[in-house]
Amino acid sequence: MDKTALLTRYHAVQEAIEQAAQQAGRDAQSIRLLAVSKGHDAAAIRALLEADHRHFAENRVQEAQEKFTLLKEEYPDLELHLIGPLQTNKTREAVALFDVIHTIDRPNLAEKLQTEIARQSRALSCLIQVNIGEEPQKAGVSPQQTDELIRYCKEDTALPIKGLMCIPPHGALPTPYFALLNSIAKRHGLPELSMGMSEDYETAIRCGATMVRVGTAIFGARET
Ligand SMILES: *Cc1c(COP(=O)(O)O)cnc(C)c1O
Repeated sequence: MDKTALLTRYHAVQEAIEQAAQQAGRDAQSIRLLAVSKGHDAAAIRALLEADHRHFAENRVQEAQEKFTLLKEEYPDLELHLIGPLQTNKTREAVALFDVIHTIDRPNLAEKLQTEIARQSRALSCLIQVNIGEEPQKAGVSPQQTDELIRYCKEDTALPIKGLMCIPPHGALPTPYFALLNSIAKRHGLPELSMGMSEDYETAIRCGATMVRVGTAIFGARET
């Protein structure tokens, strides 16, 4: 890992976020940069922690446990986000480790999570993942069924739903998808919008993103 190159990329992303916020007439403080560390080791994560970065995101529960269990003890203000699909049989581990879960997409997962959050007395926030382009291979609830899932979570589970998350179709102009997610969130009074990755986080900020999930632009390419 080239630490200097990593920190240079990280500062460039911070700078781009500030510029995009300014162009959109928004306060850059209202946008959280999540460093997506999947596929990268603890040394790279540590380099960002030493540069005072505290918000990280991972796709898989087990990989996150391996990398972050000890780091979270060392840095109590480290905030860890789950941005990959969650199986119901992993809810116990997920609730113990993560601070924000972005991928609620079905009623039984919401119910299991709420039970587990209560059992562990954890203060955790949740977002609903919307399959905004209605792509068969992608996770998330369809835009048509989102209202119903939000209502179910709020009224039947008391799950702390704070907002919505999406990944627009690859290669398409993301703006209409970001705008659609924003409008659904607004209609339900949900404050958080998790949208925008390395390729499109500046566009997402112009469309109202409050959390951008950036991997490659910070850490460099992932080994497959
Ligand atoms: C991997 C991933 C990201 C980061 O992608 P980059 O293109 O590397 O920035 C963001 N969100 C989700 C859901 C991901 O799986």
